Amino acid sequence: PYEGPTRDEVIALRHQYVSPGVLTYYQDPLMIVEGNMQYLWDEKGKRYLDGFAGIVTVSVGHCHPTIIEKVQAQTGRLQHTTTIYLHPAIAQFAEKLASKMPEGLTRSYFTNSGSEANEVAILSAREYTGNEPVIALRNGYHGGTSIPMGLTAHGNWKFKSNPQLNVLHTNPGYCYRCPYDLEYPSCDLKCAYDVKNVIQYQSPGEIACFIGEPIQGVGGTVTPPKDFFKVVYEIVRQHGGLCFADEVQGGFGRTGHHYWSHQNYDVVPDGISMAKGIGNGIPLGGFTTSEPISEVMKNRIHFNTFGGNPISMTQGLATLEVIDEQNIQQNALEVGSHLKNRLLELQEKQPLIGEVRGLGLMLGVELVRDRKTKEPANTEAAAVMEECKNRGLIVGKGGLFGNTLRIKPPMCITKEDADFMVECLDEVLNTIQIK
Ligand code: PMP
Repeated sequence: PYEGPTRDEVIALRHQYVSPGVLTYYQDPLMIVEGNMQYLWDEKGKRYLDGFAGIVTVSVGHCHPTIIEKVQAQTGRLQHTTTIYLHPAIAQFAEKLASKMPEGLTRSYFTNSGSEANEVAILSAREYTGNEPVIALRNGYHGGTSIPMGLTAHGNWKFKSNPQLNVLHTNPGYCYRCPYDLEYPSCDLKCAYDVKNVIQYQSPGEIACFIGEPIQGVGGTVTPPKDFFKVVYEIVRQHGGLCFADEVQGGFGRTGHHYWSHQNYDVVPDGISMAKGIGNGIPLGGFTTSEPISEVMKNRIHFNTFGGNPISMTQGLATLEVIDEQNIQQNALEVGSHLKNRLLELQEKQPLIGEVRGLGLMLGVELVRDRKTKEPANTEAAAVMEECKNRGLIVGKGGLFGNTLRIKPPMCITKEDADFMVECLDEVLNTIQIK
């Protein structure tokens, strides 16, 4: 049993000593003290099914025994020296990662987070092309350091004093809320073609890169139509830009059919940024690109003290091995398809559900007060989260209005867990009063 400070003591300490910028979910914050595979426990021993994988970081299960064993052995031998000395783990992990990449993307730069990975991506594109303008998608999220905060296109994540230099935003392919009020496919992908206007009106006509999440995470599992990225990538490349996929949330088999979420769109990016699920819960990020693009990181000295440390590299390698050896991607496909079908059934009886979208185990349920006006049901989404928590289920939420439930569990969940989620959501939705 848990023997540390009480929840109230922890709250008091946080109020006094932790920056108020460290946000908590839930009106009554949840304290989690233990995890095992798809389950979490609070300090009182209550169990929760983790439907949000610690915001999509835990890819194969909390405290996965195979990974823990390898990392504990490494921790006892050597924790860190910095990358200025050789260590086998960084080389072995980079090799393994390259084996998962599209052809030609062989060289990785490791960081401690997704924000830093995106900083490296944008720096590389600007150095490589000699151009500054960068294009990202509206409704996207790319991190909290300065450049990624600029790439992020949600006002509530943007600080007023953060400069956003040479970052332009284009349409995300959010069919449910089409800015043109059109319908796919008769719309002819007007949203995707708009990137041409963005480039022509707002840049000198030559750009550094485009970066986009193939399926938006924080933005509420926005899943663009099939040919969306083909159009965007082609226009970006015509204007000298590189195309990057932010796979921080969608990568590592989560979308089921493919290892990388961009593969659902039949495009090949010039670089991929990663974090979260790459390390099953350890601070680890990376940017992988081609040999010629990677060369620009030698233009000056660039150093990341903890990036590529033996512990993170060992955990990253062990995570990728578990994904391969334990058929994790196949499970994401099977359980994810089952879960999505059941959520679609639920949509038929629950009027609050405006749309169910996503692939594999990256699913979103957008709640609306009225299916015609699509008025975002944001307070209702928050109430659903609270009620689910009370019943032992953790889900997330996202989207500009915070009205999309996000379901992204560790990829080891079973069909029974998926059924529990749907039953729990059904019961909870029955209790929610529409405002
Ligand atoms: N990109 C995406 C798509 C993300 O979801 C996030 C984190 N939510 C980031 C980048 C930033 O990662 P980190 O918080 O590790 O800096």
